[in-house]
Amino acid sequence: MSVFRADRKFERFEDVTPELLKKEGVKLLLCDLDNTLRLHSEKEPADELYDWVEDCRKAGVKIVVISNNGRKKMMQKFCEPLKIDCVWWAKKPVSAKLTETMQTHNFQPSETVMLGDKWSTDVLAARFAKVRAWQVEHRKKVV
Ligand SMILES: [Mg+2]
Repeated sequence: MSVFRADRKFERFEDVTPELLKKEGVKLLLCDLDNTLRLHSEKEPADELYDWVEDCRKAGVKIVVISNNGRKKMMQKFCEPLKIDCVWWAKKPVSAKLTETMQTHNFQPSETVMLGDKWSTDVLAARFAKVRAWQVEHRKKVV
């Protein structure tokens, strides 16, 4: 296993289905924000993001956004309507915030996945935190 290679790769977050999460025993999904759950320019969550978050919730999966973005107010404004917690300025690939989040919500690394678009931050942070690293492609505009 290369530390630089994700355990699984997907085209977009929508491909990480509740069925797959269940099958893989994932109970905590740590998600990168920019270019993973949204385009960097998107100010509000897209409809498909609302649907996906709700479907994951129904499947018993907790989602927490872990972002290196330091704009706290912007992130809170984005995450609040989705009813998901967010951690800003996480300094990935440092894994402290991933570990802290697992401890806060009482999840084991074995039931946790870090989902993100960048190996240099998201994949490496997952490795350091000893959780699975799932990677999505840099988000593209849906037309
Ligand atoms: Mg990103």
